Amino acid sequence: GFKVHGHVLVWHAQSPNWLHTQVDESGNPLRDENGNVLYLDRDTALQNLRTHIRTVVETIGDRVISWDVVNEAMNDNPPNPTDWRDSLRRSGWYYAIGPDYLYEAFKAAREVIDEHGWDIELYYNDYNDDNQNKATAIAEMVKELNERYAEETGSDKKLVDGIGMQAHYNLNTNPANVRASIERIIGLGLKVGITELDIMAGTNGALSEEQAIRQGQLYAQLFQLYKEYADHITRVTFWGLDDGTSWRSANSPLLFDSRFQAKPAYYAVIDPDKFLEDHPPASREALQATAAYGTPVIDGEEDEVWSKAEVLPIARYQTAHNGAKGTARVLWDEDNLYVLVHVEDTELDRSSTVAHEQDSIEVFVDETNSKAASYGPGVGQYRVNYENEPSFNPGSISEGFESAVVVNGTNYTVEVKIPFKTIEPSENHKIGFDVQINDAQGGSRRSVANWNDLTGQGWQDPSVFGVLTLVLESPQPEEPGGPEEPGEPEEPGPGPGPRPGYAYVPISTSEPTVNE
Ligand code: CA
Ligand code: CA
Repeated sequence: GFKVHGHVLVWHAQSPNWLHTQVDESGNPLRDENGNVLYLDRDTALQNLRTHIRTVVETIGDRVISWDVVNEAMNDNPPNPTDWRDSLRRSGWYYAIGPDYLYEAFKAAREVIDEHGWDIELYYNDYNDDNQNKATAIAEMVKELNERYAEETGSDKKLVDGIGMQAHYNLNTNPANVRASIERIIGLGLKVGITELDIMAGTNGALSEEQAIRQGQLYAQLFQLYKEYADHITRVTFWGLDDGTSWRSANSPLLFDSRFQAKPAYYAVIDPDKFLEDHPPASREALQATAAYGTPVIDGEEDEVWSKAEVLPIARYQTAHNGAKGTARVLWDEDNLYVLVHVEDTELDRSSTVAHEQDSIEVFVDETNSKAASYGPGVGQYRVNYENEPSFNPGSISEGFESAVVVNGTNYTVEVKIPFKTIEPSENHKIGFDVQINDAQGGSRRSVANWNDLTGQGWQDPSVFGVLTLVLESPQPEEPGGPEEPGEPEEPGPGPGPRPGYAYVPISTSEPTVNE
């Protein structure tokens, strides 16, 4: 009596290469003299796509209620998400047929189902569905597929009935982003499937009591959302039954442990409101500090004016391995924010092709301290490696950015200028802010240190940033007690003002996972 969902007709993984690629007798891709993979011509690949879909859908028939027609076609966190074609994963299907392989796949499935008069819904399915850039690209794509189908057929039936949110989450997933994605899908008149739900917590199969409660809290928050939008959600499917047999067994992601005992997550799903009443989630504490008024020269050297600014330790580790750390100071003037970062590293490495896997610093700015769950105007992530190569998220924020780096042995100093984009800054204005040090070694990132954030979500979630207040001069730390060093002349200058609180409240979300 179970209802069965069909997963999956078209995927970049786990189908034979010969469907879209020229192969040798062993099934391995053929390559040209430059080593490039040789794909089938469009017509042949398209024929294979249609034959495969027709054969499978006809074979299974109406024993399923729905199909995932295409799975995981979109890149993660695409930099220009409104251009969904540009955001597509470069797969064999993509190379052989082009971006319209998605339309052709859905159309082939729809044709078979309509011929037989079956009532089977068609879904597009993907993961990291809470990332708003990816969700935007997916929504733009499905919207266009449905519009094209309506134009071509005059049918008021949708080509794509719904979007499957895989919902492979972790303790740092922000429910506000899940809500935003659900609302985005509903806004297109589409159904929502929660298709592969699990929540990673802990490592090596170990789950502390605190982690188990936090996992329960997120399950409860998700099910509050699912209930709120139940009219639009066709199903919630867990990706497995118990932690022992989960595909992510090491991260204990399900409702039952490996001995089939109910975990706190189970009770959270059964009664989300009661669970959250019994276990109210702790709010994240953001560190507070100041940026001083002044304009430095961007040359990687510490100008005198930097001494006006407070020193921010960049030494909270997101990773179990505690590698490179450092300090940062921040200045501002009418036009720009300036950041000076000193990094202490033991080995400089930029051999990875992935920018965040190189020895580098990152500066996160939210000009209005919006504490929003996803990026918008005035929010950006600026990265500079020790050879002064910058990278930007989103790509559009590069204009007017300047940086300089001075390397000293295995240490380096980065000085950057970040133009304000949406605000005219003034004294006492607050911005969201963080600095990160990526420590690479042997071609991969081994350690991540931040001023504020421990979640590793800053690349997509500004609510994890700390807070900087723009002041004229940072209050200086009080001198340590005891007799003064002999011969030190009395420095003129402002008296010691109130020390801005380095509210070193350890935040509870110290999951050592790093997604980007
Ligand atoms: Ca300088
Ligand atoms: Ca390093």
